[in-house]
Amino acid sequence: MSVEFHCPSCGKKQFSYEPRGRKFEKIVKSCKNCGKEYLDPRCHELAVEGIPQDAFQIGPYLFMLVLGGFIAWRGWYLFGRQQLGTPSGISWLLPSVFLILGILCIIASIVGIIRIKTGGKAKQFDKLMNESRMRMKDTAYVRKLKDLGYPLPQEYLIGLEGGSNEG
Ligand SMILES: [Zn+2]
Repeated sequence: MSVEFHCPSCGKKQFSYEPRGRKFEKIVKSCKNCGKEYLDPRCHELAVEGIPQDAFQIGPYLFMLVLGGFIAWRGWYLFGRQQLGTPSGISWLLPSVFLILGILCIIASIVGIIRIKTGGKAKQFDKLMNESRMRMKDTAYVRKLKDLGYPLPQEYLIGLEGGSNEG
């Protein structure tokens, strides 16, 4: 499921990541081994790419809520029942794991829905957007993005030409 990312310059492994995961922070990172800079595939500049359309959908949270409920219910159901191939001394273990996992899923999904409904998530994105805008005002950073092959809209390229007096 997770993908390994290696430094494009020296090939040293930098990290493993979930391709579906998204981070909204500085994209340009330095290799721990050779010090050369690269684009972090996990990261996105909100000011350039915009807020992801699915960020405020509650569908995925509802799915997680139902799934969590099902897992918790299975755990509850298994308590006190004979499980094939499980010594009776640890028969509480599997149901407990199910129950805890299910409850954690339920809590996480409810918190997620509340954060969307109350505008907490929108506020967080506002903050991240402002941080991204600040980064994109830094010509040196924008130039690095361009040199490393990050697809920049025309407006940022024009800004680079204007400030490239020192070469
Ligand atoms: Zn490297």
